[in-house]
Amino acid sequence: AAQIWYEKDADLSVLDGKKVAIIGYGSQGHAHALNLRDSGVDVVVGLRPTSKSVEFAKEQGLEVKSVPEATAEADIVMILAPDQYQRTIFANDIEPNLKPGAALAFAHGFNIHYGYIKPTEDHPVFMVAPKGPGHIVRRQYTEGRGVPVVVAVEQDPRGDAWDITLAYAKALGALRAGAIKTTFKEETETDLFGEQNVLMGGVNKLVEMGFEVLTDAGYQPEIAYFEVCHELKMLVDLMNEGGLNKARWSCSDTAQYGDYTCTVINEETRKRMEYQLKRIQDGSFAKEFIDDQDAGAPHFKELQEKYSNVRIETVGPKLRAMFSWNKDGVADADEGQSF
Ligand code: NDP
Ligand code: MG
Ligand code: MG
Repeated sequence: AAQIWYEKDADLSVLDGKKVAIIGYGSQGHAHALNLRDSGVDVVVGLRPTSKSVEFAKEQGLEVKSVPEATAEADIVMILAPDQYQRTIFANDIEPNLKPGAALAFAHGFNIHYGYIKPTEDHPVFMVAPKGPGHIVRRQYTEGRGVPVVVAVEQDPRGDAWDITLAYAKALGALRAGAIKTTFKEETETDLFGEQNVLMGGVNKLVEMGFEVLTDAGYQPEIAYFEVCHELKMLVDLMNEGGLNKARWSCSDTAQYGDYTCTVINEETRKRMEYQLKRIQDGSFAKEFIDDQDAGAPHFKELQEKYSNVRIETVGPKLRAMFSWNKDGVADADEGQSF
């Protein structure tokens, strides 16, 4: 059975007198910095001096320094910059400034697992990987809840790496939901699999294609939008509370019968998923992504442009702007930050 830790299993005092540098203030960075700070941990944020986030982090009452300066005073350095830049930031700004024995931490195993970052043996290396978007990691913490995490230790030169890992997870609010023990390999491979096949690559393409098939058949785009996009959240909320069975329980028998008999996702899809998994396991997905990023991300940028202009995106903003709870007709309200 999985080993799962909860609040009672971790001791926050392990972090007493320790300074945690959070490198990056994006989706995960702001959530880790603010949650740890609110849990009483001594936090410094490491950013490029030119970053738009410097002012925002300061407004939240956080101490902000350059990445080398923040690293130099930290006992734990959590690297929360984008995966494709981490190895350069590590080589240029972090590794040369690390205190002896300072711990290195990650929220995703990518750079350690695929060997892009190779810390020397004297540094503990651990992972606290939230199974949720950064903005929800912050929102749920403020609501007294927490996003579950998976945790791993890659290097443990002093024997205290697990205590630090669990204390960090507790300060993040994650032990309110649970922390599952894993390895960098398992986290990396399952995380990439989930986002490619189900959470993003799977669902996003189902929504997009469903919208296009309906509108091509002459149905109103507004109705197609509510049908295949807006309503999805309601089903997912039920699924989140009570699994597939609860999502099905709330739907009509007609809907359930259509669900069981639909042939869109089939054994061919399973084979595609197994193929995607193989490309993750043998490193070819990672290599393709990093090679493109190193070349200035031409393929990534082309894809971002193409997918941000798919047809469903033309109708969604208008409908969301009309919801009475979206103030001043502004849809897609941001959380006050520039990322
Ligand atoms: P973001 O893209 O949101 O992070 C951007 C931040 O990184 C910005 O503050 C940016 O600052 C900073 N940054 C970029 N380049 C540099 C640099 N060269 N030097 C210093 N800072 C830099 O990242 P995410 O939060 O999405 O991802 C961070 C990590 O968390 C990744 O390992 C990811 O896999 C993992 N993760 C992410 C999840 C998510 O919800 N997004 C979920 C679970 C794990 P600037 O303003 O200077 O550009
Ligand atoms: Mg993930
Ligand atoms: Mg991921």
